[in-house]
Amino acid sequence: RAKAAGGNRYEHADPEADVLAITRHGLTNSLPTALERGEFFIEYQPLVRLSDGTVHGAEALVRWCHPLRGVLGPDQFIPLAENTGLIVPLGRWVLGEAVRQARAWQFADGEGPLRVNVNLSPFQLRYPDLVRDTAEVLKEAGLEPTALCLEVTESALIGADETLLRPLRQLADLGVDIALDDFGTGYSNLSNLRRMPLSALKLDRSFTRGMQQDPADPVDLKIVEGVVALAHTLDLAVTVEGVETGAQAEHLRVLGCDTAQGWYYARPGPPDRLHALSLVDAS
Ligand code: C2E
Ligand code: MG
Ligand code: MG
Ligand code: MG
Repeated sequence: RAKAAGGNRYEHADPEADVLAITRHGLTNSLPTALERGEFFIEYQPLVRLSDGTVHGAEALVRWCHPLRGVLGPDQFIPLAENTGLIVPLGRWVLGEAVRQARAWQFADGEGPLRVNVNLSPFQLRYPDLVRDTAEVLKEAGLEPTALCLEVTESALIGADETLLRPLRQLADLGVDIALDDFGTGYSNLSNLRRMPLSALKLDRSFTRGMQQDPADPVDLKIVEGVVALAHTLDLAVTVEGVETGAQAEHLRVLGCDTAQGWYYARPGPPDRLHALSLVDAS
C-alpha cells in the first residue's frame, strides 16, 4: 500500500511491522530523547468546507525527523510512543504547538475563525491530567476552546466505558469539539454514538475510494448518503478524509458532506503554507 499511495512516504499499512522494524533499527533508544532534542515537527493539512470551498481549519499531523533515518510518519512511531509512555508528553507537545499555531493564524489574517484538529491517542484519554492540561494550553495560548477539535479513533473507544467517556465529556464541556476519526473502519457501535459527546464524524477514506472511478461505485455513494443522513440526524457534521480528485469532492458535496480533507486540496505541509491557502480561498 505504501507504493500504491504514490509518494506519500508516511503511509504504512502495518503498524506492528513498523514497530518491529523500528526496534530492529535501534530506534527504541532514540525515541525517548527525541522530544527534548527537538526532532518532532508538525505538518498541517487544510480542512475545506465543501459548500463554498473555503479553508475552515487544519489537522495537525506529527512527524519525526530522525537524524539518521530521515522523516518518519506517525504510523512508524506512534505505536512505539504508546508502548513506552512517551505518547503523553509527545501528545501534550503536539497539542501545545497546534493550539499556538491556530492562534497565530487567527492573528495573521484577522478574520478567523481558523480552527485546528489534533489527534488524541487512547493512552492520552486514560491520562488523568489530560483535561486540565488541555484547558491550560488553551488558556496560555489565548485560543478559544471552540477553535480546537480533538480527533479520537473509533477503535480507541471500544466499549466506550465511563473511564473514556468522562474525560471526553469534560473536554466537550470546556467547549472543545470531539470528532470520531476513521469512522466506519472500527467497531461501529451505532448506539454508542448517542452517548458520546461528539460534534463530527470523520469518514474513513476507504468509503470514498470508489468515487475516484468513473462512474462512481453506486454502493459507496449509497453508504456515504446513509452515513450523512445518520450523522445529521444526530446533529453531527461529516468530514471526509482522503479526497484525491475533483470528481470525488463533487460527489461528496452533492451527498451533503460538510468538510473534506485530502491531496486534491493540499498535502500536509508547513503552517505558513496553510495560511497562504486560507487567504487565497477567502478572497
Ligand atoms: P488520520 O488522523 O486519519 O490522518 C489522516 C491521514 O491520511 C494522514 O496520514 C494524512 O497524511 C493522510 N492523508 C491525507 N489526505 C490524503 C489523501 O488524499 N490520500 C491519502 N492516501 N492519504 C491522505 P499520516 O500523516 O501518515 O497520519 C497517520 C495517522 O497517524 C493519523 O491518521 C493519525 O491517526 C495518526 N497521527 C498523526 N498525528 C498524530 C498525533 O499527533 N498524535 C496521535 N496520537 N496520532 C497522530
Ligand atoms: Mg485524524
Ligand atoms: Mg482520520
Ligand atoms: Mg485515517
